Amino acid sequence: VERTLTILKPDCVRKNLIGEVTRRIQEAGFKVVAMKMTRLTKETAGGFYAVHKERPFFGELVEFMSSGPCVPMILEKENAIEDFRTLIGATNPDEADEGTIRADFADSVGENMVHGSDSVENGKIEAAYFFTESEVV
Ligand code: ATP
Repeated sequence: VERTLTILKPDCVRKNLIGEVTRRIQEAGFKVVAMKMTRLTKETAGGFYAVHKERPFFGELVEFMSSGPCVPMILEKENAIEDFRTLIGATNPDEADEGTIRADFADSVGENMVHGSDSVENGKIEAAYFFTESEVV
């Protein structure tokens, strides 16, 4: 089975939606195989989003991701990468399909509730960024 790495971002935690979003994720058939609450520093947030460091929104992204605790998780399911991106909806909540997590809860393209890996390969790199082997069940 495939794995994906998600982060319930600081806006999700601030809105007290950890439970609701996790419920939707589990109801959609994803198995949680690792999870923790952590607060990213600007350095760890910047490292995670290093591919975006030349983008105009990088500073804002790093500020936001380090603005409060977040909840990274590794999720397991057949076709996890694609199915998870379908569940969360488009990056910009205004463009996200009805019923998706971002359409229902996200305020903006910057504060968009959740991250989802964009490929199996990146999912593995991202999972290793947050979890050691013994933290994955
Ligand atoms: P994520 O990687 O968080 O799942 P994504 O793959 O849907 O998001 P990317 O294009 O990889 O989207 O952008 C990474 C993150 O950078 C977005 O989730 C969003 O939080 C932020 N971001 C993207 N575009 C903008 C923008 N124009 N303004 C502010 N933040 C942005």
